[in-house]
Amino acid sequence: NKIIIAIDGHSSTGKSTVAKQLAKALHYIYVDTGAMYRAVTLYAMRKGYIDVDHFDVRALESELPLIRIRFERNANNGLAEVILNDENIEKEIRGLSVSRHVSKIAAVSAVRKKLVEQQQEMGKDKGIVMDGRDIGTVVFPNAELKLFMTATAKDRAERRYLELKERGDDVSYEDVLKNVVNRDHIDSTRKDSPLRKASDAIKIDNSNLTLDQQFEQILILAQT
Ligand code: C5P
Repeated sequence: NKIIIAIDGHSSTGKSTVAKQLAKALHYIYVDTGAMYRAVTLYAMRKGYIDVDHFDVRALESELPLIRIRFERNANNGLAEVILNDENIEKEIRGLSVSRHVSKIAAVSAVRKKLVEQQQEMGKDKGIVMDGRDIGTVVFPNAELKLFMTATAKDRAERRYLELKERGDDVSYEDVLKNVVNRDHIDSTRKDSPLRKASDAIKIDNSNLTLDQQFEQILILAQT
């Protein structure tokens, strides 16, 4: 019996790591909804609709029908990669420049409406692990298993900093910490679908858990 697993939580809490582990163990599809918001953000940045000091919401809204997002499996590592209008943008959307604007884009109701509909369509056959900010509250309020992940801002920024360094980005720990805290703030105070723990979600604070310990605990939940 295939189920829907919804994983929400603050930025850089390791949601995607757990989601990928679960999807692999259960032979489920994994959908990274943050990547979809990041793809819309990259589109808006390239068009000059968003920058530090301006945001042309109208222009972005009117072009939403032109933005096509899908996932494609990388034949080498088996992982899903984001495709924006037929261009693979997987690497580009993970950098700090997209992270700096993404929460403003994600606060736009028309953007959320478009992406939530696509996400619900992806999950209609169940057997899916989806991670994001509103999966257990809005996208799949009836998901059979809901997790809400959290960890201290310091732990999260450290992890994200090491990840970015590993891929060769020139970033400082302070900038990464600032970005994590800033995104959490915008994500939890926006009007449309603010980041919340669903009342029936299980809270997982992984500040003091190794990846293996955490996965063991969660796999048991998924199988009961
Ligand atoms: O998960 P990730 O950190 O890549 O998400 C990037 C941003 O996209 C979040 O900070 C949030 O603003 C937005 N997001 C969202 N709803 C989701 C997934 C991501 O608002 N379901």
